[in-house]
Amino acid sequence: MTTPATRLLIHGASGRMGHTLLRLCRDEPAPGCTVVAAVSRRVAQRVVDGVPQFSAHEIAGVPPFDVAIDFSLPAGLETVATLCAARSAGLVSGTTGLDDAQRQSLEAASRRVPVIWAANFSIGAAVLADLVARAAPALHGWDCDIVEQHHVHKRDAPSGTALSLGKAAESGGAIPRHASLRAGDIVGEHTVQFATAGERIELIHRATSRDVFARGAIAAASRLHGRAPGHYALRDLLFDPA
Ligand code: NAD
Repeated sequence: MTTPATRLLIHGASGRMGHTLLRLCRDEPAPGCTVVAAVSRRVAQRVVDGVPQFSAHEIAGVPPFDVAIDFSLPAGLETVATLCAARSAGLVSGTTGLDDAQRQSLEAASRRVPVIWAANFSIGAAVLADLVARAAPALHGWDCDIVEQHHVHKRDAPSGTALSLGKAAESGGAIPRHASLRAGDIVGEHTVQFATAGERIELIHRATSRDVFARGAIAAASRLHGRAPGHYALRDLLFDPA
């Protein structure tokens, strides 16, 4: 049986992540994945590399698609979540800095279509969270500090990844504190430090290229296509051989 092709909508297409996604889909197309439309807040050119471009106001006019990959800003999330629900299309979102209402729009969509949201689509960051959750219970009473660094344009702080790492630490009984640095063009660096008198453990993940997030999101999109409605976890999709 052949798997049907996955028609992708890229939401947040003119941004740093949007450019990365479109470049990877053009230069190393995942088998069976094709980009059918790109949406940005504003549009300068109608077609780029054969992909039709839509502004946020024109989103209702995008052609049929199977999964939207959203790396935009929180203000754009509700619109794409509603569109996915209306079109029976899956949603892969990596947009961070969401408030409660925006998180609820993801939950509402997940009752009608398959949805995955992750603060970090790299495999290394998923493994780091796992290591933190396993270390924390063994380091009861140690100080736990999460330090993240990103480029100067990043708006939310602490990063979504740092907050997810904080939850992983809390699940093991730690009480994490957060610190954020915004400098230069740093793609993303997260350090989780456990310290007590006389010793210290540092667990570090460094992303040096946005390609790792984009590859994870594209892989998640092709694995989300055709699934039942629900809110999926990254590990279920990326580590599930199905
Ligand atoms: P960016 O500012 O470079 O790009 C934002 C994009 O969103 C632009 O194309 C802009 O036109 C579009 N946009 C803004 N408001 C919109 C709206 N109302 N409707 C539709 N489109 C809108 O940002 P970026 O660096 O590409 O990051 C995008 C998001 O992805 C951020 O929230 C960032 O924290 C997050 N991010 C997540 C991961 C991950 O793995 N989960 C990795 C990197 C970045």
